[in-house]
Amino acid sequence: MNTSICTSDFLEDLRALAQQHLPNVELVLVPSVKAWCEATQAAVQSPFKCGAALRNRETGRFVVLLAEEITPDMHASRMAVLRMRPSLNDDRRKQLEVPQGFVRHLLLHEVAHALDSTRNEEQCDDWAFQQLERPHAA
Ligand SMILES: [Zn+2]
Repeated sequence: MNTSICTSDFLEDLRALAQQHLPNVELVLVPSVKAWCEATQAAVQSPFKCGAALRNRETGRFVVLLAEEITPDMHASRMAVLRMRPSLNDDRRKQLEVPQGFVRHLLLHEVAHALDSTRNEEQCDDWAFQQLERPHAA
């Protein structure tokens, strides 16, 4: 990918997708997920972090953060991880190369963390692909 993905281009679609799984979820687009997380709670290792799932302790409401801008470096960094997943077939890889497919998968990955905090990164990625392959999500 040569140009950045602007997540706000897909905001309504992403919000509807998140709400299918987490009806009360708040979706927030931020300039830097890393900076946002560090300002509020734990330190984050990757400067390329594209998203995060948090829970508001006062309200119990889930908050999913996505970067406002997914730069080509951020996309490449995430794709390097996803390419190692044994479950990544050609159809799934093609989906991730399209901006909307990439951001939908990214969002669902964070939703997967929110729904079950015991899931690891690979389980969240696989769950996200499964949701995208369900007929109603198309
Ligand atoms: Zn994750």
